[in-house]
Amino acid sequence: FNVPTPVNEPVKGYAPGSPERAELHRELKRLKQLELDIPMHIGGQEVRTGKLERISPPHDHQHTLGHFHAGDASHVQQAVDAALAARPMWAEMPWEHRAAIFLKAAELLAGPFRARINAATMLGQSKNAFQAEIDAACELIDFFRYNVHFMRELYEQQPQSSAGMWNRLEHRPLEGFVFALTPFNFTSIAGNLPSCVAMMGNVVVWKPANTQIYSAQVLMELFKEAGVPDGVINLVYVDGPTAGEVLFNHRDFAGIHFTGSTGVFQNIWKTIGQNIHKYKSYPRIVGETGGKDFILAHPSAHAKAVATAISRGAFEYQGQKCSAASRVYLPSNLYEEIKGYLVEDLKSMKMGDVEDFSNFINAVITEASFDKLAKYIDGAKNDPDAEIIAGGNYDKSKGYFVEPTVIVAKDPKYVTMCEELFGPVLTVHVYDADKFEETLDLVDSTSPYALTGAVFSQDRYAIDLASKRLQNAAGNFYINDKPTGAVVGQQPFGGARASGTNDKAGSMLNLLRWVSPRAIKETF
Ligand code: GLU
Repeated sequence: FNVPTPVNEPVKGYAPGSPERAELHRELKRLKQLELDIPMHIGGQEVRTGKLERISPPHDHQHTLGHFHAGDASHVQQAVDAALAARPMWAEMPWEHRAAIFLKAAELLAGPFRARINAATMLGQSKNAFQAEIDAACELIDFFRYNVHFMRELYEQQPQSSAGMWNRLEHRPLEGFVFALTPFNFTSIAGNLPSCVAMMGNVVVWKPANTQIYSAQVLMELFKEAGVPDGVINLVYVDGPTAGEVLFNHRDFAGIHFTGSTGVFQNIWKTIGQNIHKYKSYPRIVGETGGKDFILAHPSAHAKAVATAISRGAFEYQGQKCSAASRVYLPSNLYEEIKGYLVEDLKSMKMGDVEDFSNFINAVITEASFDKLAKYIDGAKNDPDAEIIAGGNYDKSKGYFVEPTVIVAKDPKYVTMCEELFGPVLTVHVYDADKFEETLDLVDSTSPYALTGAVFSQDRYAIDLASKRLQNAAGNFYINDKPTGAVVGQQPFGGARASGTNDKAGSMLNLLRWVSPRAIKETF
């Protein structure tokens, strides 16, 4: 079978006066007036426990968007049972039918679901319209389309045969269920982790972050409407330890597809290790975790390009991307010029709610995140070796607003140069323009993470040197561009070291983890 050649979904601009802008505004208004009652979805049934938890927009925490029904261990067990019951039928289904379901999901998302998923992402996760569009709409559409294409390529991978013999590979689904544990910061990741596993014939128990449930329930409806059969993807709202207790002790646990924090992932890995004797097969452990992503400018860099990359790469979606730049190394010869452009650019960035489309900065996700960021900003204010050159204010009276903040630290190992903050706080270190090579070593050794990084230079030798010395410092390495915004099919995404297992999202490498091939030899 051939499948449609994938192309990246064009990004809508939401320009003033455009019909898509009017539609999105209508959808935001409609959703804000509802108070949704959000059930879990187990085996095709909506499950309501009556244990309600409130959902509110991070930029307007007094407003109620709805309530979700929280589950307990018994619901996780039911989800496993439903998944295993659906498994034989789903695993037997010819792959082109699975492909068709997810191609349909892409079309539904590009059309009738687009305004709704964008509006839900904007309200529930405090993303501006553009950031929602490139995530919840375009990237997820791309994941569906490209994964179908990669799935076909993967199934085509077949061994050689010779006269009298036929060798073939059967790309079986894993024997058991897979746990998808998804983050708040990308609706596309929340949609991709369960769906790309399911696409390969597997059944899934899906637990989203509580802070993403508002858009997760729209994704679940999308899966249903696209034709994902009951029990193939089961959506539960429980706390992590409760889910882990059931899932990691189950004989049929076959793998985890994870995006989230390094600490949680390491604990999961340990738990799986401790329980390894309980499982039928060695589980697949696939995770994308933290980052402490860098921008490094060489003395030959274009100052304005560096400043723009910093303001976009560090502050889009309030810096809450694993890929966001959070430590920057600037050469002394360019510092003043870059600082001038950067401070000016940040001054022009408006902060506020998501309904005013001119706000570039919205709220950070939770009060806990806000408090943590405020603590680090105060620490810098009180430290004579640190200087705040932009931002530094925060206010949680209406929503969790933290100004885009730039700290300049004398010490290249200053606390905010090293720790992952996951918010709009960036630290700059100015290095002696003669010490580019030493700075490369510093960039490589300062953080245990290796997700994204960017080098700016007009000097080919410097680019080559940086590329070699920083070979293992980033799974996504950018030359003269910001380190965020990887596009499916163009820059497969993921990092190594403490940043994850580097099974590149939206690529055949990732799909390979969700099959267990059987090699068949037949002689005649
Ligand atoms: N793929 C996203 C990007 O390139 C980041 C994903 C993440 O934050 O996990 O910006």
